[in-house]
Amino acid sequence: MSVPTSLAVKVRQRAKYRCEFCQMSQSLQGASFHIEHILPKVHGGKTILGNLALACPGCNLHKSDRISAKDTSNGEIVPLFHPRKDVWADHFKWFGVRLEGRSAKGRATLTLLRLNHPRRLLIRKAEQRFGLFPPD
Ligand SMILES: [Zn+2]
Repeated sequence: MSVPTSLAVKVRQRAKYRCEFCQMSQSLQGASFHIEHILPKVHGGKTILGNLALACPGCNLHKSDRISAKDTSNGEIVPLFHPRKDVWADHFKWFGVRLEGRSAKGRATLTLLRLNHPRRLLIRKAEQRFGLFPPD
């Protein structure tokens, strides 16, 4: 997945160095966050700012080439959260260090990307100590 450096820099700055799905900060993480194709290249997604997002390794690997997932409330297949077209707060809400889906899209994305995995909760608690959580 080759993204030109100049484009990658713009994506990281625009995201304020946070995963655009789970909001994790890059600053405490050893691994560099990934430049994610929201519409994957296999589905015709282009390497342009409007189709790129910053994603932590966990979110990027769980999303992979998917563009939809099951809404856990009714089993309906719905599109995943789209960081360029959707407003994060319309689809997700914090309850302490846990996330809840506010929409079908939010619930489906939360489940597919495992946004409340125990390791993620621990990271949010650590971020809290450094003043990095909750995100602005
Ligand atoms: Zn993430």
